[in-house]
Amino acid sequence: TIQITMTTESPSLRIDQIKALIHQYNHEYYVLDNPTVPDAEYDRLMRELIELEAQHPDLKTLDSPSQKVGGEALKAFEQVTHQIPMLSLDNVFSEQEWQAFVKRIQDRLGSQASISFCAEPKLDGLAVSLRYEDGVLVQAATRGDGTTGENITDNIRTIKSIPLKLYGEQYPGVLEVRGEVFMPKASFDALNAKAAKAGDKQFANPRNAAAGSLRQLDSKITAKRNLAFYAYSVGYVGASDSNEVGEEWLAQSHFARLVQLKELGLPMCPEVVLLMTEEGCDEFYQDILAKRDQLPYEIDGTVLKVDDIALQEQLGFVARAPRWATAYKFPAQEELTILEDVDFQV
Ligand code: NAD
Repeated sequence: TIQITMTTESPSLRIDQIKALIHQYNHEYYVLDNPTVPDAEYDRLMRELIELEAQHPDLKTLDSPSQKVGGEALKAFEQVTHQIPMLSLDNVFSEQEWQAFVKRIQDRLGSQASISFCAEPKLDGLAVSLRYEDGVLVQAATRGDGTTGENITDNIRTIKSIPLKLYGEQYPGVLEVRGEVFMPKASFDALNAKAAKAGDKQFANPRNAAAGSLRQLDSKITAKRNLAFYAYSVGYVGASDSNEVGEEWLAQSHFARLVQLKELGLPMCPEVVLLMTEEGCDEFYQDILAKRDQLPYEIDGTVLKVDDIALQEQLGFVARAPRWATAYKFPAQEELTILEDVDFQV
């Protein structure tokens, strides 16, 4: 792992150096599904880049990794252009940063009133967009670079928890559902045990295993991987030629939307809750952190989203993420392990 923080170095050189490293790490992570550094190391570099760019705005370029979402879509798949871009999330790593996030939102809204948040675990898989037309699953795509993703419809059809046809009678003509495909811990352990036995390469973590399994050219392989799915938002919603129900179908609360999706058969993570004020968010984070090891799937933090859709619209987006949501991330497990070791020796 390369960790250089030289004060004598010019900011421009350091920025170039970080960009080159992040470029390489993105390729390994998003394209090859094979990271070579821990996420914490990647996150540190990204933070340093964002800070340097904030101090030297003239050095911030449009192609900087701080301005972009994810990686490129693999050319082996048909490309899908997202009608509404699939963004990433900003992140905070401490209670102070979380409070600063809330304060920024309140300042922007010009109100000190408390805000309701939809609080969700941050699932460690990969984002997909599912398109239902007249209630039938017609297309599924990965996030890719946020604008263009990979057409993975055949592979998505093998995931048992994703309905091929929506339940119920009432749904919009066109409904794009967004959510996370992930590999439950038990499936991941079984897959790696099998790979070890066969002398094959093992996956670094369930996220990479999920990404590698979903981006298979042969969907028979995907079918054997026991992937699962939770919905966490909607993309494009509109009427179709034969169904005039459109956007008006949607609730004006993010949490209520997830419940609407659940009623159509799209699984919602059971840990998701609606918090009436920002006060509860830190407690939610602590609760989920305490539960982490017992959950049957991997998570790497919590996600907190302003629940009121009108407020979300008022807050809008920056280059790569919405202003109305943030990932409140857990301390990296790699770091936790090291800390525990140190404690032991003392
Ligand atoms: P991210 O994973 O930090 O956050 C955005 C993603 O969170 C969304 O796209 C979605 O897939 C997911 N998500 C999970 N639960 C969600 C929920 N409830 N609501 C909404 N979204 C939810 O961002 P990213 O852009 O996908 O990846 C960046 C992160 O990936 C980095 O912070 C780093 O940890 C890791 N990474 C690591 C390497 C490496 O080399 N180790 C390289 C690139 C990225």
